[in-house]
Amino acid sequence: MAKCVYFFGNGKAEGSSPMRNLLGGKGCDLAEMTNLGIPVPPGFTITTEACVEYFKRKNRSPDGLWDEVLGHLQRLESTLNLRLGDRERSLLVSVRSGARVSMPGMMDTVLNLGLNDQTVIGLARRTKNDRFAWDCYRRFIAMFGDVVLGLERSAFERLLDETKAGAGVQTDPEVPAEALMDLVARYKGIVQEKTGRAFPQDPLEQLRLAVDAVFNSWNNPRAAAYRRIHGIPHDWGTAVTVMAMVFGNLGENSGTGVVFTRDPATGERRFFGEFLVNAQGEDVVAGIRTPEPITALKARAPQVYDELIAIKDRLERHYRDMQDIEFTVQEGTLYLLQTRSGKRAAGAAVRIAVEMMREGLIDKDTALLRVEPGRLNELLHPIFDSTDKARAIAKGGLLAKGLPAAPGAAAGRVVFDADRAVEWAKGGQKVILVRPETSPEDVAGMHAAQGILASRGGRTSHAAVVAVGMGKCCIVGAGDVFVDEERRAFQAGRTIVREGDIISLDGTSGEVFLGAIELIEPSISGELQVLLKWGDERRTLGVRANADTPDDAMKARQYGAEGIGLVRTEHMFFQAERIPIVREMIMAKDTLARRKAAERLLPFQREDFIGIFRAMDGLPVTVRLLDPPLHEFLPRYTDLLEEHTRLDALRINPGRLKELEEIMVNVRALQEFNPMLGHRGCRLGITFPEIYDMQVRAIMEAACAVTREGVRVEPEIMIPLTGTVGEMKLTYEMTKAVADAVLAETGMTVKYLIGTMIEVPRAALVADQIAQQAEFFSFGTNDLTQMTFGYSRDDIGKFLPHYLEHEILPVDPFVILDQEGVGELVRIGIERGRKTRPGMKIGICGEHGGEPASVEFCHRVGMTYVSSSPFMIPISRLAAAHARIKEERAREVTNA
Ligand code: PEP
Ligand code: MG
Repeated sequence: MAKCVYFFGNGKAEGSSPMRNLLGGKGCDLAEMTNLGIPVPPGFTITTEACVEYFKRKNRSPDGLWDEVLGHLQRLESTLNLRLGDRERSLLVSVRSGARVSMPGMMDTVLNLGLNDQTVIGLARRTKNDRFAWDCYRRFIAMFGDVVLGLERSAFERLLDETKAGAGVQTDPEVPAEALMDLVARYKGIVQEKTGRAFPQDPLEQLRLAVDAVFNSWNNPRAAAYRRIHGIPHDWGTAVTVMAMVFGNLGENSGTGVVFTRDPATGERRFFGEFLVNAQGEDVVAGIRTPEPITALKARAPQVYDELIAIKDRLERHYRDMQDIEFTVQEGTLYLLQTRSGKRAAGAAVRIAVEMMREGLIDKDTALLRVEPGRLNELLHPIFDSTDKARAIAKGGLLAKGLPAAPGAAAGRVVFDADRAVEWAKGGQKVILVRPETSPEDVAGMHAAQGILASRGGRTSHAAVVAVGMGKCCIVGAGDVFVDEERRAFQAGRTIVREGDIISLDGTSGEVFLGAIELIEPSISGELQVLLKWGDERRTLGVRANADTPDDAMKARQYGAEGIGLVRTEHMFFQAERIPIVREMIMAKDTLARRKAAERLLPFQREDFIGIFRAMDGLPVTVRLLDPPLHEFLPRYTDLLEEHTRLDALRINPGRLKELEEIMVNVRALQEFNPMLGHRGCRLGITFPEIYDMQVRAIMEAACAVTREGVRVEPEIMIPLTGTVGEMKLTYEMTKAVADAVLAETGMTVKYLIGTMIEVPRAALVADQIAQQAEFFSFGTNDLTQMTFGYSRDDIGKFLPHYLEHEILPVDPFVILDQEGVGELVRIGIERGRKTRPGMKIGICGEHGGEPASVEFCHRVGMTYVSSSPFMIPISRLAAAHARIKEERAREVTNA
C-alpha cells in the first residue's frame, strides 16, 4: 500500500491543494494553509485511498496503516511536547471526516479524543480549570458514544437536561464542575449499560475506533442519500484528519466561529459570519446558543479580529473563490480549523462569479464554470423559503412525493377542475389544479393555476410538457395521491384534502405539502445577464426555444433564444373555441367533412403563425405538423356515457341524445390500446392528408403575409414521428406541393425547408436514407427515449420511483438523456444524416434540450442547436458555454 498518512504542522505540510482527491477537501486545505504560514493546529491526514482499501477489506484497516498512524502521532506529540494518554501533559485530538468534495454535516467527527479518567484530571490541573476539563470529557463521551459506539444521542442529552435542571441553570456554560463530574459518571453508566463494556480508557484504542467510525460514516444513510442527490460517486471514500485540539471553551477570552468572505445569501462583498464566546464548534452547529455577529469579535478582541480579516482576505485571494472558514480562539490566540469554497445561493453564485472576474481574481471562463447551469432554475422560478419549508416538514406537513416535472414552487387552494381554476383565479384566488391526469381541456385551468399536481403521468406526459412550457411548477406521477373528482377531495396517506384547502408544491423536488409555505420570487439580475452574455461569446451550440404562441415566442426572445426549434401545432388548438373543431376534424366521417373542419381551423393557425413569425423576425422558426396522441383530444368516453344516461333517463333532448350516440361510436372506433404508439404523427398526416395540407397552407400563407410587411422569415416545416423512408418521401412531396402552390398563388418567393423529427429509433438507423429528402433533423428525445427504453411516457410514474430508489436506473431518462443508449442512436442519426447531407442542420427539441448534462452531450456530438422551453433558455445558454470551455480544457490537457 502506498503512503497512507500525510503530516502538517510547524509551518510545513506534506500535502497541498492539488492533492484534494487523496487528502479530501479538509485535509488538503489544512495542508495548504499550513504551507501558507496561517496558524493551523498540527495534525495528519489519512488518505481516501486508505478508506477505499478499508472498504475493500470488508471494514478492516489496510496493512501498515496503523503503524503509519502511530509514527505520525509521535511526530505530532513531539511537535507539541504533549503525549496521548499522558497524565499531566495529555495530547487531545479531533478526528474529522473530509471527502474530496464537501458534504456538509453528512459524515462524522469526534472531538476531545484522548480524555479518560486520568487525563481529565491532568487537563484540569494544566488549565487550572476544572469545569473546562470535565465539560470536555462529558462532550467526548457523548460524541464518542454517538459516533463510534452507535448509541442514541438523545439519551445523553436527556441526562444533560436533568443535570441543568438539578443545578437550577438554563445554559450549558453555567453547569458547575461538580455537576459535570457527576454527569460524566452517569454518561459512562449509559455506555456500560448499552454496550456491556466500560467506556474505553486507552486513548490508542479510542483513536483506532474513531478512525474506523469516520471511515464508516461515508456509508451512513445520510451521506449516501446526499451523494445520490448530488451525483457524487459512492466509491470515492473519505479522508480522515487527526489534529490537535484547540479549545474555544477555555473562558471568556476564547471562542469559536464561522465566517464567509462574502455573503453566501446575496454574494455581496462583505465580511460575514458568527462567533460564539466560550464554546466549541459543535455548539455553533447544534444551534443551542445564539451566536453573535462576527463584528462582536472586534469589540472583544480587536487584534484577533484584524488578524482574521487579514487571513480571510489572503485565503480568498489564494483560492480565488469565496471561502467558508472555521476558526477557534484559544485564550486570545487565533487558529484556523478549516477553509473551503463556501456554499452559496444561486443568485450569490452569479454575483460572486461576475464580481470576481471584474476584480481580476478569475477569468471569464472560470466565472462561467463557477455557476452550475441547473441552479439557474432557482433564479427563474419561485422557490420556497427554506426555513419555512423546514418548519412545514417538522410539523408533519409533507403529504406526498411525486415526480418533479416542472421546477418552481407554488401555494394555493386546491381545485379539481379547470373551469373552477379559471373562475377562482379570476376572483383573485391563488389555486393549485389537482387532476388524476391532464388533457387539453385542462390547459386554461393550468394557465390560471399557480401549480399543477397530477397523480398519474411521467415527466414528458402532457401535463409536464405543457407546464414546463408555461413555466409553471408541476408534479406528476404522485402515486400516493388518490384523486376523487366526484367528492372533490384527494387523499394522501391519512390526510384528506378538500377543494378550497391550501397546499404547496415544490416542482423541483416533487414534494406536496399541506398548508402554505412562503415563496421567494425569481429575479433576473444584471449580473446574470452579464454572465449569460459572456457565455454566448464562448458557446458554439445554438439555443432555440420550444414555443407555441406569439407570447411564448416573445418571452423566448427576451431570454435569448436564437430561433424556435419546435412549435407544437397541436398546442395551438388548446383554446376552448378550437377544441370542438379539432374533434370534428379528427372524428370526421369522410374526407369532405374533414376538409371542412380543417378549413375552419386554417384562419386560427395562420394568425398564430403570423404572430410567431413577427415575434421572431429574422430568426428561424421550426413548425411541426400535427402530432396529437388522439386520446388527448377526444372527449372522455365516460363523460359521454354519463350525459347519455342522464338524458335517456329524463327522456329529454332527443337531438343531443342522437348526436351523443354518434360521437360515442366514433370515439370507440378511434380508441387505441396504446395511443402513444398509435395513430399519431405523420401516420395521422398520411391517412388524413387534409390536415397537413391545411397546416402547410397556413404556414406558407402566414410567411407570405409577413414577408409583405418586411419581416424576414424562413419557415422550417417539420414532419413528426417519421420511421421509414416511405413516410418521409410521401410527406415531403405532400408538403412541397402545397407550399409551392401557395407561393405560386401569391406570386411571392419565400425560402422554406422541409425536415423531420428523429424520434423513432428506426429513423436514426436509416437517417442516411431519410436525409435524402429531409433538409434538417430535430431529435425528439422524449419519444426517442420512450421507444428506445420501451417505457410509456405516460405510465413511467408507476415504476420509476421504485427504479430510482433501488438504483435500477441511475436517473429518470426522460429528464437526463441516456447517453449510452438513446444517445448512441442520436450519434448514429447525426453521422448517417450528415453522410448524405454534409453540414446538415441538426437540433434537439425533446425536454433534454434544457438539461445541462444533455446539452453538453449535444455539443459533443456536433448538433447545431438545442431547443428548450423559454424558461430554460438561460440554462441551455450557460450549459452550452460550459460544454465548449470543458472541451477546450480537455483538449489542452491532451495536447500538453
Ligand atoms: C419529442 O418527442 O421529444 C418531442 C419534442 O415531441 P413531443 O414531446 O411533442 O412528442
Ligand atoms: Mg415526439
